[in-house]
Amino acid sequence: MIDVAVIGGGAAGMMAALEAASRGAAVSVFERQARVGRKLSVTGNGRCNLTNIQASSAHYHGETPDFAGPALRRFGPEETLRRFRELGLLTTVQADGRAYPLSDSAGSVVDVLRYAMEAGGVRLRTGCEVKAVKAGKKGFRICLSDGEAYADRVVVACGGAAGERFGGSELGYRLLEGLGHSRTRLGRGLVQLRSDNRCCRSLKGIRADAAVTVLSGGRSVARSAGEVQFTDYGLSGPAIFEISSAALSSADAAVSLDLLREVSEAELARLLRRRAASTPQLALEDAFVGTVQNRIGRVLVGVCGLKGSAPISVLEDGDAERLAHTAKNFLFPITGDMGMEYAQVTVGGVSAREFDPNTMESRLCPGLFACGEVLDVDGDCGGFNLQWAWSSGRLAGVCAAEA
Ligand SMILES: Cc1cc2nc3c(=O)[nH]c(=O)nc-3n(C[C@H](O)[C@H](O)[C@H](O)COP(=O)(O)OP(=O)(O)OC[C@H]3O[C@@H](n4cnc5c(N)ncnc54)[C@H](O)[C@@H]3O)c2cc1C
Repeated sequence: MIDVAVIGGGAAGMMAALEAASRGAAVSVFERQARVGRKLSVTGNGRCNLTNIQASSAHYHGETPDFAGPALRRFGPEETLRRFRELGLLTTVQADGRAYPLSDSAGSVVDVLRYAMEAGGVRLRTGCEVKAVKAGKKGFRICLSDGEAYADRVVVACGGAAGERFGGSELGYRLLEGLGHSRTRLGRGLVQLRSDNRCCRSLKGIRADAAVTVLSGGRSVARSAGEVQFTDYGLSGPAIFEISSAALSSADAAVSLDLLREVSEAELARLLRRRAASTPQLALEDAFVGTVQNRIGRVLVGVCGLKGSAPISVLEDGDAERLAHTAKNFLFPITGDMGMEYAQVTVGGVSAREFDPNTMESRLCPGLFACGEVLDVDGDCGGFNLQWAWSSGRLAGVCAAEA
């Protein structure tokens, strides 16, 4: 029987352990936190966006193009949802392709994986940090916080540095570097952006639908659309996460929000002019009522330097156009981000070039496998990162258990 040691009991590690055990391997999972699936249990705001039915290699980034392709083609979103159904997890897929557990609880994803590992005879060692892995002639010696262990094959599934609050760390990179691997430069992906636009405070707590454009030197460098959340420090929400890497890697970046993407600027200006003519006593701060949220409307009026308490009839030539332009091009200069602690994914990681994408085995150290976020692969916002964890974890588990 082949002994497989899985280092890290997160999404990728649990999937790898299950697959290796179901193929007859004797599997141990070493997890440094008190329980497995700590990060998984907070994903998707506690709902766990566990995959996206549109997942394909086009949604993944890193220095090795199409590295994610083989694993995704073998075990993509459909196979993932089917596998979870076998484990007893019912799921629902939204119109935008994002899949969630029907229970709306990330905890149930962790639970079904935990139960299946128990049923499959996987040995779980929580509160146990792997300090180093040494490759020998007959397998691996694993140095633990409380002793040592031996295995024929090792799967490193330690995750990345992002989300420090939920166990993200650089430990996995160090383990693999100790075995001769190198890593690319690390950055933060899918992260909240800071802005010095003073309106942020007044808009704090509002969620709005917007088309988002990242501008650098006046040029558009990235776009997204969807939910934006205003916070006291800047901008958050899925549409912001999606363009965060582009904003952080561009000089003098600013985010421009189109808060009325269904309506043209000219149409909006017409609507405002009509309103000024039909209800001249209406306070200017209510000019946008019925178009954007009232609090946003008031802020837009202020941004244009107009007095909210004045009647709308004071609008002069060009004012309606200026208001409409601001609503469709609301500018937030970007001053930074919320850091690795808050990022959802690490950009960069252990060089995927040093692993075989068809097996996830190291090209430098036979018998060593890696999967999930520890590798230099990061996905778009919307369930793609967990899909990578499932796809790569499964492939690593299957191949590590092969005789
Ligand atoms: C707040 C938040 C929300 C997110 N929401 C989503 C979402 O909805 N959809 C989505 O697709 N992605 C989401 N992500 C990203 C996703 O959670 C990760 O990409 C995914 O969990 C990576 O899986 P992994 O198994 O590689 O790493 P992890 O899930 O981080 O697991 C790695 C495990 O290894 C353990 N470990 C590390 N080093 C050692 C060591 N030396 N010894 C023993 N154990 C060790 C860690 O404690 C950890 O439990 C979110 C991330 C965050 C932070």
